[in-house]
Amino acid sequence: MATASGLTEQHTRLAELIREADSVVALTGAGVSVPSGIPDFRTPGKGLWTQVDPMKVAHIDAFRRDPKAFWDYYRPRFQVLGDKRPNPAHEALAELERRGLLDGLVTQNIDRLHRAAGSQRVVEVHGTIETSSCTSCDATFRLEEVDSLFGEDGVAECRLCLGPVKPDVVLFGELLPEDAMLEAHELAEGADLMLCVGSSLEVHPVAGLPGTCLETGGRLAIITRSSTPYDRMAEVKLSGDVVDELGAVLAAL
Ligand code: ZN
Repeated sequence: MATASGLTEQHTRLAELIREADSVVALTGAGVSVPSGIPDFRTPGKGLWTQVDPMKVAHIDAFRRDPKAFWDYYRPRFQVLGDKRPNPAHEALAELERRGLLDGLVTQNIDRLHRAAGSQRVVEVHGTIETSSCTSCDATFRLEEVDSLFGEDGVAECRLCLGPVKPDVVLFGELLPEDAMLEAHELAEGADLMLCVGSSLEVHPVAGLPGTCLETGGRLAIITRSSTPYDRMAEVKLSGDVVDELGAVLAAL
């Protein structure tokens, strides 16, 4: 039952779970960044994002075979993403960490907005647009520098060795970074409560983390519009807007 402030029993229950837990960990997906104007690329009809099949063009084989076609797709995407700002959902999660109520955050998002909002322990399992690296010599470039690396051929080239430069995001066909996955697993195993926010929890191997948390005796709370494979196992499921739901949970704490 909702009160005038929008607080429901579910929000109060989740606040209680957060207070009771020794270790709370968040797992976030594309839904957290939608209020920042970053559409989930799997949502149909979003212009820039679906003019091409990302599975084809954002694939490591495409990068190796035809880096120009790859960058034709990625360069405008980089520019759009680079200008985005964190929204109150990112800020609410940063605030939980500041209050000592959140140990860390595992994200599938590459947009660096959790860090921009002030979150400290952020595990980016799909990498980040923050840096791009040379595939020949491992030189690294900040997002702001990448635009200056393009030659007339439309490909980003290393300033040192002229090798092809690739964004430090996990492309289709690539393995997830080992260190990040290890840290994500450690967080999931040690969590009494995993707060899953804005993710349909369907993309593996990240989708296995809530299962890991359950197996090691933790609980789940899910704040996501869509249904997820873990809904029936969650202590709390909130299906409203992520900004409203997280705001209400903060208010209940
Ligand atoms: Zn190089």
